[in-house]
Amino acid sequence: MNKLIVAEKDKAAKRIAEILSDGNYNSKKVGKTNVYEYTENGDKNQVIGLRGHIMKIDFPEKYKDWQAQEPKELIRAEIEKNPLHKGIVNSLQKLAKQAEQTIIATDYDREGELIGKDALEVIENTNNKITNKRARFSALTQTDVKTAFQNTGEMDYKLSSSGEARQILDLVWGASLTRYISLTAHRYGDNFLSVGRVQTPTLAIIVDKEKEIEAFEPTPYWEINLTLQTNNKKFQAQHTEGRIWEEQKADKIHQNIQNTATVTSTKTKTKKDTPPTPFNTTAFMRAAGSVGLNPSRAMNTAETLYTAGYISYPRTDNTVYSESLDIEQKLHMIGQHPEFKENVQKIQQQKNITPTQGDKTSKDHPPIHPTQLANKKDLNKTEWKVYELIVRRFLATLSPPATKKRITIKLQTGGETFQTKGTQYTDLGWREHYPYYKTKETILPKLQKNQEINIKQKHKESKQTNPPNRYSSNRLITKMDKKGLGTKATRHNIISKLYNRNYIYGNPPKPTKTAEAVIETLEEYAERITQPDMTATLEKEMDQIVDGKLEKQDVIEESRQMLEQIFQDLTQNKEKIAQSLRTGLQKDKILGPCPKCGENLRIMRSKRGSRFVGCSGYPDCNYSLPLPKRGNLIKTKKTCPNHNLNELKVTYNKNKKPWTLGCPQCNYDEWQKDKNKDKD
Ligand SMILES: [Zn+2]
Ligand SMILES: [Zn+2]
Repeated sequence: MNKLIVAEKDKAAKRIAEILSDGNYNSKKVGKTNVYEYTENGDKNQVIGLRGHIMKIDFPEKYKDWQAQEPKELIRAEIEKNPLHKGIVNSLQKLAKQAEQTIIATDYDREGELIGKDALEVIENTNNKITNKRARFSALTQTDVKTAFQNTGEMDYKLSSSGEARQILDLVWGASLTRYISLTAHRYGDNFLSVGRVQTPTLAIIVDKEKEIEAFEPTPYWEINLTLQTNNKKFQAQHTEGRIWEEQKADKIHQNIQNTATVTSTKTKTKKDTPPTPFNTTAFMRAAGSVGLNPSRAMNTAETLYTAGYISYPRTDNTVYSESLDIEQKLHMIGQHPEFKENVQKIQQQKNITPTQGDKTSKDHPPIHPTQLANKKDLNKTEWKVYELIVRRFLATLSPPATKKRITIKLQTGGETFQTKGTQYTDLGWREHYPYYKTKETILPKLQKNQEINIKQKHKESKQTNPPNRYSSNRLITKMDKKGLGTKATRHNIISKLYNRNYIYGNPPKPTKTAEAVIETLEEYAERITQPDMTATLEKEMDQIVDGKLEKQDVIEESRQMLEQIFQDLTQNKEKIAQSLRTGLQKDKILGPCPKCGENLRIMRSKRGSRFVGCSGYPDCNYSLPLPKRGNLIKTKKTCPNHNLNELKVTYNKNKKPWTLGCPQCNYDEWQKDKNKDKD
């Protein structure tokens, strides 16, 4: 039986052909698409890779014109499915005619099942006699792929249905709300204001945190510390009150301090530091921050490693290794690598190896773990970093806890109690294999009860409470997961989208004034769009489609009703929303005082469409500064100390690197200086 095997991507297709043919395959082109061909018991099998989704859903042509239809009409507009990659669709059709059976071997999850189902529909529409099977695997290794193709199953139409529901929800919410808000703010073309089911509540998390930081008023407090010395060893102790909120009180304590202090107690506690749980997608993306990778970069790299067979499937919620995972064999494999050899030996010497477990179990994929030994020279730097992180995490989950001694010593002087704390690791345990967390030790001198110690110095330190920290993009992923925003497969893309839409910049991401304008307006007049509740409910219901508890149509209908409620809020407050957006969006244009007249300098557009910095005092004042022609201008929170103007950053939608323009006045002055230099 001639087979047509469909993989999610070209690289995966090639690897599958390589494994199934034991290396005896030919590459050819069908149309412009790569196809890998091999014979098996006299049959001709062909493997083709897609480019993820090959079909896309959209509204019919008549809805394309933003002005022609009310955005609300999109809620119940019909939806079409059209080819996204026509070339691949054509190649699939050609191949379908020559095959008797097709095996869908796309990724095994919601999106993968839908990608496979769309491909299968194209194939069946060309050849209605063709039979189909589904191959599912969690790693592109010899064993996993061969086993999967020997034990093929059926397509899971509930799973693909859930994927279709997700697609429709995102299209309908995104299109109707984005159009409504953009039209209300008079932002057309490339300048549109994007609003979405998952992205807007996510952006609200960032903006709300920024508001909290801005509203934060530091409270002064004092700390009283001692520097003590015994046997030539210096150490610090702090007053047990910790933060002292009244200076008078701090002064009093400070005065009470004598020349010596007496040890009143020493306590030692043994604490165990439990090893981390196996990596699921969220934990992995969070940890990738410690090797300097943002979630998108981490995920893309993990996907490359997966496709090459080095690690298991990186999109998983599971944090429990299954019984069938051969840990001994994995350890043996990792132990072949000189960098991990000693770590592995240490683990193999343990009396028993009991892997840690997280609280999420699922049957589809195992936690992310290494599946094949990688050579450092075969990977680029980032790939190796990610591979090493995954290997070390795997080792850590098999290791014993770290043990540390916590020593607390209390001392008295002039009726005041001070304390000092020491930490000493007696056994590094898993930390030895997983060096990504700091292992900080503070070693105290040995002290006896009633011992008298010289006070070298006493300090009264004046401090301030700090505003809360911004979320790093890696931490934001965890936050989204907790609030039910997005899925393991989409969260990092949502954050990238917010960057591309110029809603956020830098890392940790800071919101632009445009983001603040959109979120503040929506929080005031259509709060539900900014809250995670609705989208979290829908996310849960999409899982219930998979379990067969709900039908796709029910979930889509419910989401449409939710949107209709939202549109009621929007329509009722239309004027106020327009006003609030206008005022808010202006803030992103104002840079600071004009050096000539003191009015506001603003980012403006000339009649011909080019950007420049102009003065609000025009026509009385014609002060202006040039701006770059290309790229998106981001007004940052930083202001120039010399000109009091906000500094600018330039970002691009394509893969081009962003750069800092800085203060437009300084930038212009530099440019003039360079120009004069060239003349000399
Ligand atoms: Zn001016
Ligand atoms: Zn300046």
